[in-house]
Amino acid sequence: METRWLYQTSEKLAELRDAAKGVCVIPMGCVEKHGLHLPLGTDIIQASHLAYMASQIENVCVFPDFIFGDIQSKSPSAPLGTVSVSAELELLLLEELCEAISRNGFKKIAIYNAHGGNKALLAHFLRTMYSKKRDYVVCVIDVDLPAPHGMAEKIEKFGKDSIPELNDEDVELILKYHTENMHTDHASFDEAAFILGICPETVHLDRLGIETGKNFGKTKYLSDAGIYIANGGWDVEYPNWFAGDDPVGCNERIGKAAVRIEAERVANAYKVLKEDENLLKWLDEYQQGW
Ligand SMILES: [Zn+2]
Repeated sequence: METRWLYQTSEKLAELRDAAKGVCVIPMGCVEKHGLHLPLGTDIIQASHLAYMASQIENVCVFPDFIFGDIQSKSPSAPLGTVSVSAELELLLLEELCEAISRNGFKKIAIYNAHGGNKALLAHFLRTMYSKKRDYVVCVIDVDLPAPHGMAEKIEKFGKDSIPELNDEDVELILKYHTENMHTDHASFDEAAFILGICPETVHLDRLGIETGKNFGKTKYLSDAGIYIANGGWDVEYPNWFAGDDPVGCNERIGKAAVRIEAERVANAYKVLKEDENLLKWLDEYQQGW
């Protein structure tokens, strides 16, 4: 069924709300540089596409994309195309949107987040949601990127036929990268796979090798001493907005497999949320006497 909020009529939204058992999902990402080889919208493209795909397996309502994730875009060194708003505005906007969703009768709201930099903000947001009386719950589902390590573990456990999209060369590549403990973080193999699986025409693997995704190690003396600095020192360590080894050989087959695996995982999270009878009860108990 059509599960996107914007594609419903008022009447149809009520039908969808029943089918979704009151669950509404907000895809969340950001707009930032992903090396020279992936698009600026990498995170929100993943969140949007996967949230919708999963909703086709397990029906929930998919709210329009929340694209303004938490990034440091106001620095003069921020690359072209980087966009964000202040954290204060983000928190306010998220809260107002959740209030609006709740007024429309969706009492379980999940933020499906595909930007690592949003995690701290969202953890704080969930805590602030307890500062006022509410009749709905908000939770977060973080993206899980299965290529190459999750896929390698699956192949080792269940055999290569457990991921039918892959050919023998793909399997070999994934196992090799896993054995070599390839570093995957930002714009590396894992995200390249998703974008190759969703919109391959926006990926430019021929731009690999020009800017490194290696960690410069400049802040290690601080972390070794147990000192945590802003963003874990990420901005200093990865000035190319690329963190990880080059995703050489990643391709559309691997991408399609990664997208399917993640969509199934997220669909299961939707199912658990739809069937859950505790979250609203616990909220009620917490708020008793307010
Ligand atoms: Zn990303």
